[in-house]
Amino acid sequence: MVSAYDERPWLALYGELPSELVPEHDTLLAMFDAGVARHPDRVATTYFDGRLTYRELDELSDGLAAHLAGRGLAAGDRMAVYLQNVPQFVIAVLAGWKAGAIVVPLNPMYRSHELTRILADARPTAVVSSERGWHDVLGEVARDAGIGIALTTSDLDLQTRDDERLFAGHRRGPAADAVDLLEAARAGGRRPEVAVSGDDVALLVYTSGTSGVPKGATNTHGNLAFNCAGFKARAGREAPGFFALAPLFHITGMVCELGAAIALGGRLDLAYRFEAGVVLDALKEHRPDYMIGPSTAYMALMNHPDVSADHFSSLEHIYSGGAPLPSAVVERFRELFGHYIHNGYGLTETTATATSVPTHLEAPVHEESGTLSVGLPTFNTVLRIVDDDGRDLPVGEVGEIVIEGPMVVPAYWNKPDETKAGIRDGRLHTGDVGFMDPQGWFYVVDRKKDMINASGFKVWPREVEDVLYSHPAVREAAVVGVPDAYRGETVKAFVSLRAGARATGEELAEHCKQRMAAYKYPRSVEIIDELPKTATGKILRRTLRQGATGSTATG
Ligand code: AMP
Repeated sequence: MVSAYDERPWLALYGELPSELVPEHDTLLAMFDAGVARHPDRVATTYFDGRLTYRELDELSDGLAAHLAGRGLAAGDRMAVYLQNVPQFVIAVLAGWKAGAIVVPLNPMYRSHELTRILADARPTAVVSSERGWHDVLGEVARDAGIGIALTTSDLDLQTRDDERLFAGHRRGPAADAVDLLEAARAGGRRPEVAVSGDDVALLVYTSGTSGVPKGATNTHGNLAFNCAGFKARAGREAPGFFALAPLFHITGMVCELGAAIALGGRLDLAYRFEAGVVLDALKEHRPDYMIGPSTAYMALMNHPDVSADHFSSLEHIYSGGAPLPSAVVERFRELFGHYIHNGYGLTETTATATSVPTHLEAPVHEESGTLSVGLPTFNTVLRIVDDDGRDLPVGEVGEIVIEGPMVVPAYWNKPDETKAGIRDGRLHTGDVGFMDPQGWFYVVDRKKDMINASGFKVWPREVEDVLYSHPAVREAAVVGVPDAYRGETVKAFVSLRAGARATGEELAEHCKQRMAAYKYPRSVEIIDELPKTATGKILRRTLRQGATGSTATG
């Protein structure tokens, strides 16, 4: 029988993960334990001027795991984490895994509408939050959801620098109904005895997948261990410093930053959240070896008035993923700073990376379209381009990208129908549209799904439309992505009003802004008489998208 590898000789470039790199351990936690045993005094994470060694991280996460287990958190329970890129995120994740919990990362930009929906589906036993997030929004949502274990922490702990750019108004003090995370962690205690295997779910990461309904991707410990080992094989260097440009709550941060740092016995440099000036200072201070983030972050860094090649001089490799990377950005970045940006493509459901550009190569740019390739399928991974009936298409033809590999999640949490629709026989139907060139390089050119990609943050039209429909003046609403110089895409809404109702575009935009994460609300709401529809009454988003521009004035 001809194997996929014979048919596709380019797979040889990555092929099977070399046997010496097949993870010794089938969980990231076991890799961490091995790191603690081998190099306890090595720095594991930095946060401005704060730092924790592997031993300290181990002791704190043991203490927190003991606390959680003591309060009734059992193996298989969910634990939600609502934090920025702070070391407490890392402590909480390791503690959750040590207690056998499934970690549910929550975007700290989510407001009550989004949090309520996720908590109702994930039903966590415990939540970990920043003090600010707890006071402002999560506390109320968690109380309503009846969550019994709440831990909070200040974003300013574990460092002494009170950076005005980031932390104005952050000191809130502990909440009466929550326990201080670091106090609980420092109280110590015995790590619970829980056996975790590669098949157990490690993370429940909420994504809207291809259909727009928020659902939890069940990334297993095995999925994570495999992709982290793959990163180790690609990056090569022992004990590097990873600068976390991508947020840890996103699968890219969790795997390509936190996971990869643990797998390589390296250091994770954290800087709260993306803010170009802060990042540039941190790069100079910590001199990392690798940096991973969405393309828009590189654009913001490149355009910062203080930026110089010196900021990037310690870096060996730079990686981008999660959003389209224009080849012009890659070229400009190289001209300015002498660094090539390695593109990579994947989804939450592929535990981050499914394709990447080998570190010794550069991705080709497709001649006709000018599109930069997203790379080659990573180890043990097969990408196919299929037509609407799921049949393989020949080289060069455009179709849906389907991914198969050891890092594809087995299912969506409690959603058998969605699982059947999106993940069939271990093959993930991505909803992304692309093609493969004769050398085996893949290109992403469009999306079947309606998703909008704003700086790597995914926005689903339906969710924004639901919020618009909750406004009494709205008769019909349709949300589309329009090109945006900085974000890649931004959110625009078209709305028709009920007979006799009055509302301005600004009012409707504000209505959304109050109810959802800042990157989701429509930057422009245009009021029109009728939305274009098909004969069967389906709103023609594509027509609206084609007619729209990013600069349309708010109606
Ligand atoms: P997420 O689940 O948030 O990781 O989003 C996954 C989606 O991001 C994919 O389905 C793509 O639409 C998009 N995406 C990820 N990486 C790239 C890339 N390198 N180029 C273009 N789109 C990308």
